[in-house]
Amino acid sequence: METLELVETHANRPKFRSHYDNYIGGKWVPPVGGEYFDNTSPVDGSLIAKMPRSKAADVDLAVAAAQKAFETWGKTSATERSKVLLQIADVIEKNLEFLARVETVENGKALRETMAADMPLVVDHFRYFAGVIRAEEGSATELNADTLSLIIKEPVGVVGQIIPWNFPLLMATWKLAPALAAGCCVVIKPAEQTPTSLAIMFELLEGIVPAGVVNIIQGFGPEAGKPLAQHKGINKVAFTGETTTGRLIMQYASENLIPVTMELGGKSPNIFMKSIADHDDEFFDKCVEGAVMFALNQGEICTCPSRLLVHEDIYDKFMERVIARTKAIKLGHPLDADTMMGAQASNDQYEKILSYIDIGKQEGAEVLTGGGPADSVEGGYYIQPTIFKGNNKMRIFQEEIFGPVLSVTTFKDADEAVAIANDTLYGLGAGFWSRDAHELYTIPRQIQAGRVWVNCYHDYPAHAPFGGYKKSGFGRENHLMMLNHYRQVKNLLISYSKNKLGFF
Ligand code: NAD
Repeated sequence: METLELVETHANRPKFRSHYDNYIGGKWVPPVGGEYFDNTSPVDGSLIAKMPRSKAADVDLAVAAAQKAFETWGKTSATERSKVLLQIADVIEKNLEFLARVETVENGKALRETMAADMPLVVDHFRYFAGVIRAEEGSATELNADTLSLIIKEPVGVVGQIIPWNFPLLMATWKLAPALAAGCCVVIKPAEQTPTSLAIMFELLEGIVPAGVVNIIQGFGPEAGKPLAQHKGINKVAFTGETTTGRLIMQYASENLIPVTMELGGKSPNIFMKSIADHDDEFFDKCVEGAVMFALNQGEICTCPSRLLVHEDIYDKFMERVIARTKAIKLGHPLDADTMMGAQASNDQYEKILSYIDIGKQEGAEVLTGGGPADSVEGGYYIQPTIFKGNNKMRIFQEEIFGPVLSVTTFKDADEAVAIANDTLYGLGAGFWSRDAHELYTIPRQIQAGRVWVNCYHDYPAHAPFGGYKKSGFGRENHLMMLNHYRQVKNLLISYSKNKLGFF
């Protein structure tokens, strides 16, 4: 297959087709209006491929294909669906390096992350949902000697899924794997910044996923995403993206009174207690790395630990090490094996992050390191990992920057740490670091966030639930509880009694 070739340009950049089409009913279909847009690489500004600029008419075709496929797929057994998910995982695993390179060229993130984290997680999530769908037990309760209550879970039907650009294949997988396991059919719209990788993944999966079970519509949010979220033919919307967009998606979905799940923005606190300095240097060093995790994926992670809260007594010792470790981050071409931080995902991102760095300076925050653009690869969007010292009232502490920018402040005791941590609109992730066993339980319980990492950060196993409090959304992803977001419950109340009902 043409897309599988690795060509001899920079560090084996994958060879792309000149254009890709929508994937509808198991076929590659040009957009009805015939329009395409350029997908460029943030690594160096080069053209990757032309992508369909879909509109409502394309969405209509995709929803119709999904509805047709649902007549069959919705009735398949868990065993049959599990088999398909396992095959998907195998194909992705076989092409892991190729897909990792595609994702790196398209998103700008370092290959060492796509190889070691993103793609293995994609494989594992498909395997996890292949397993749990078969492990589930049915539930029947005898209500009395003559009456049985049977709880049956049925797929909701056709699901519209809209995803962001920061983890193109992993965000798609978080949505696709549970939906397919539950027996739903899908119309998915990738982000316009990273449309190619999912198309390439489904080229590889041709013949494995039955026609129409997964349909891909490419294009822009208001042109392709909105008609999808509004469509009368879908039964649910699953969205990951910005909080402001999530609000719009809810409005669209409310027209059809269908359920939504929302994975939205964040401004996650990362709290370091005094006790981390009491013990061995190895643990202290792990804590230093935990603070520098703000730079993972160039900071473009919804759970980016972008607010660092450090106990005032250890601030100097801790920050000296954090700054040194941040300065040692190697920026560069993301396909180079030793690059630790690659390009921001788009020019819009690049400009937004730099404008927040200016805002931080204007607000009077002190730049501890970084503070501007980097010139790693000509034509690409590179920014120095930046640390500010300031206070939690500043915009750089309150607004999602979605870049490699860390805002640091101190606290004097646990109550103040919790108050600062919770003083934000968001509630997605948080980090808590301590060597005190009492604190390790009691303080994370007070933090308003759906995921609190304790003495670790940025781990996303398939079998741990993930999602937001407050303006970070609702519903959960991953874990078997996710299946219930793609199903509805039918209760069969069965009577074995010969007695009359007794009313008429
Ligand atoms: P975004 O909201 O701009 O776009 C997300 C998706 O929505 C894209 O596919 C886009 O085309 C589509 N969209 C935009 N406007 C739309 C509209 N009016 N109607 C329908 N669809 C529309 O977000 P983004 O910039 O792609 O992603 C970054 C955001 O995603 C950040 O806020 C980040 O925190 C969040 N995020 C959250 C999670 C999570 O699990 N909570 C995970 C990853 C990213």
